[in-house]
Amino acid sequence: PVLRVAIMGLGGYATRVADAMQQCKRAKLVGAISGTPSKLTAWQAKYGIAEKNCYNYESFKNIKNNPDIDVVYITTPNALHHSQVIAAAAAGKHVICEKPMALNAKEGAEMVAACKKAGVQLLVGYRMHFEPKTLEVVRMRQDGELGKIKFFEGLSGFVIGDPTQWRLNKALAGGGALMDIGIYSINGARYMVGEEPIWVTAQETKNDPVKFKAGVDETIQFQLGFPSGAVASILSTYSVNYLDRFYLVGEKGYANLQPATGYGPIKGYTNKGELTQPHQTHQTVQMDEMAAIILDGKKPIIPVDGEEGLRDLKIIDAIYEAVKTGKKISLT
Ligand code: NAD
Repeated sequence: PVLRVAIMGLGGYATRVADAMQQCKRAKLVGAISGTPSKLTAWQAKYGIAEKNCYNYESFKNIKNNPDIDVVYITTPNALHHSQVIAAAAAGKHVICEKPMALNAKEGAEMVAACKKAGVQLLVGYRMHFEPKTLEVVRMRQDGELGKIKFFEGLSGFVIGDPTQWRLNKALAGGGALMDIGIYSINGARYMVGEEPIWVTAQETKNDPVKFKAGVDETIQFQLGFPSGAVASILSTYSVNYLDRFYLVGEKGYANLQPATGYGPIKGYTNKGELTQPHQTHQTVQMDEMAAIILDGKKPIIPVDGEEGLRDLKIIDAIYEAVKTGKKISLT
């Protein structure tokens, strides 16, 4: 069977996912939800979506009576994810939610509980969890080829443009660079090191308080400690370009990914040489793999479920707490 997908929030990333899904073998774009009628018309024409599978935010509740849609993929601004995931679950649909899954761990836990209660699956759009070079580094670490892991460095940043966009609006974004791009290094630290962090320290720098208003972080550096004694050092920023790098070091070897999370081909090398796994469009692989997870119960190598999204939100909460208090925050 094929996973029949409706996308909610027809913006930039939704279009990228919709385009990538045209090459999928197991996932098919069949529906759309938008508050803008002209977007729905355009999507019907571009992707061959049936009128009966199109909804606005008011009619969306009727999706529960539509047997031709299996899953709702939510690609709206961060602040909307919580209520929209809960609404999709209440309509009896599986849900894929973009990162960050919510604004904080409290919201995340409510979403996980709502999906569990409704008996639907909740997945988070962590496309790197299916990327072949990333998975090769995870395999090397799991097979002991890097030895005992000692250190991870994550660099996640770019210079953000238009100051009026929702990403710089605390109410819609829930924060700044950390919510949007720093989360890649938080998540990456966890799957690269292969442990859950037990403490965090963090420091914020704000050089442009006009562009980055209260509650919107420009730059945060933070450190994570893991049960084995491994440590991670991470930079999250909206003010520096060319920051997309993961560096994992163990007693017997290392792996360097740069770019580590961009859409284009990931590049990497280890102490054993260059990584040569072929590039495939991330979202195409992601959607085929998510179809197998939802339809066949396949277990991904790196989890993408709501619990996984919630773990990242707990760390984000702790980072903001560490920035505010200047203290080392325990995650246990
Ligand atoms: P975008 O601004 O391009 O699109 C957001 C869409 O939501 C727009 O179509 C907008 O009209 C719609 N929307 C619905 N209700 C809205 C409201 N109340 N206010 C504002 N917009 C509203 O943003 P995007 O880049 O597509 O990001 C959407 C989500 O996808 C975010 O959560 C983001 O973090 C995530 N994202 C993930 C990746 C990834 O690689 N996984 C990449 C980009 C974005």
